[in-house]
Amino acid sequence: MTTSVFEGLQFIDGAWTPAADGGRLDLVDPATGRPFAAVARGSAADVDAAVAAARRAAPAWAATNPTDRGALLSRWSQLVFANAERLAGLEAQDVGKPLSGGRTNAFIAGGIIGYFGGAADKLTGVTLPSRTPDFHGYTLMEPLGVCAVITPWNVPAVLTAANAAPALAAGNAVVLKPSEVAPLVVLALAELAAEAGIPAGVLNVVTGGPEAGAALSGHADVDHLSFVGSTATGRAIMRAAAENLVPVKLELGGKSPNLLFADADLDAAIPAIVGSITENAGQNCYAGSRLVVEESIADEVRERVVAAMRAVRIGAWDEDLDMGPLVNATQRDRVLGFLAELPASGARVLTGGGVPADRDAGWYVEPTVVDGVSPGDRIVREEVFGPVLALQTFRGEAAALELANRTDFGLLSCIWTSDVSRALRLAAGVRSGQVAVNQFHDAGVIGFPFNMQKDSGFSRGGGYAAMREYTQEKAVAIRLLPPRAV
Ligand code: NAD
Repeated sequence: MTTSVFEGLQFIDGAWTPAADGGRLDLVDPATGRPFAAVARGSAADVDAAVAAARRAAPAWAATNPTDRGALLSRWSQLVFANAERLAGLEAQDVGKPLSGGRTNAFIAGGIIGYFGGAADKLTGVTLPSRTPDFHGYTLMEPLGVCAVITPWNVPAVLTAANAAPALAAGNAVVLKPSEVAPLVVLALAELAAEAGIPAGVLNVVTGGPEAGAALSGHADVDHLSFVGSTATGRAIMRAAAENLVPVKLELGGKSPNLLFADADLDAAIPAIVGSITENAGQNCYAGSRLVVEESIADEVRERVVAAMRAVRIGAWDEDLDMGPLVNATQRDRVLGFLAELPASGARVLTGGGVPADRDAGWYVEPTVVDGVSPGDRIVREEVFGPVLALQTFRGEAAALELANRTDFGLLSCIWTSDVSRALRLAAGVRSGQVAVNQFHDAGVIGFPFNMQKDSGFSRGGGYAAMREYTQEKAVAIRLLPPRAV
């Protein structure tokens, strides 16, 4: 086992701290199945300490001139860019993704933190109209206090930035509980925040598993809960929020369709569609796990997608190829479980469907295309979270829309067409928080709101509105007294 700088530790009140009960969490390299680092296994006692530290730090942080607060976040962002290579390696090895994927995420995280650094002193309330001139009304945007953030393992740097940065910019202290599966890059980001000058106690990271998550989400002294993860855990978080009557933001799973019309630019669409399900080995909430193709081009698309999936190069994080293994044995077995059901359902595997023959260690699954699926099949309805693409065909725009919306999830819909009227009609018709036209996801747009509908959750994430999520608006009404007689 190699050691990391965070060996057996977590970050509470500005100090590197072991777990109160001495517990340690081994981190395993998904490409080898062997432990390569360890952090603290935080528990309820560590959560108590972190929440208390955040509570102590919150008033001074809230009272800091927002321009100075923003400058600290901007410095943090610069440090993230300067340390991108190290951050990339930590995330890549922890999650199993190619190094270039870790690098992209480090740059996205730095960009998000910088965005909120710039926004910190632009958060304003409103002046309200009054019935007569002797009344004045306005609103104040106040921080909530202590914000809890609980994140999953798949894109830890980006999710830390996307949730902690707006909360901090708005003047809150944060207690973050990253996933027990891949917390290393989150600790490195906290280290850089401290180096940037963000005061002790303002950003705390408790590493630990579901018990630490439950202790944090159920903590009576937390003012806001932000959760990113599975829909099942999201329900538990919402129950905890109900107990303590605190606002909650949920970003959950997805089953995103790529709607591919015959008039689309297939040369652009096919690599993007394959990338949408092989990036991070399909372990993304927005993964394009359903390909919904117009029947007239289905044969050509099948052939080209299968060829492109077969060309995906698989390897460990430091081989830096196109796709790595799944994050752990549980996740690999879950994906293989979906594939094992297929023969009984009548679906056909066009390529992939198992473990690559040339990989005897690690948790690899082949890029897989499944055809002949029915709308009721589990592989079409549930989040597989692996490199598995389910292909369906349609005839006509109405049928495409019906298939796109036939899901409990509502995260992202991608529309591939050269007909702008059709793109606009479908963008209005799909039931998802985000829509991409002729591209996969939001590339090229700054501050794209990371919104969700249906079982994918509800949030005001991603853009400027995210900062408002971490504030409370106070309304003030003033009656002006008449001028005093002199
Ligand atoms: P998960 O729900 O198992 O775990 C997420 C986090 O919750 C972890 O930190 C975990 O320790 C913690 N946790 C688990 N049980 C808990 C409990 N009872 N109370 C409090 N905390 C608890 O999810 P995962 O397997 O880590 O991540 C994969 C999921 O995350 C997928 O469903 C994916 O779609 C989703 N995700 C969503 C987004 C988004 O923005 N919508 C982004 C990334 C990932």
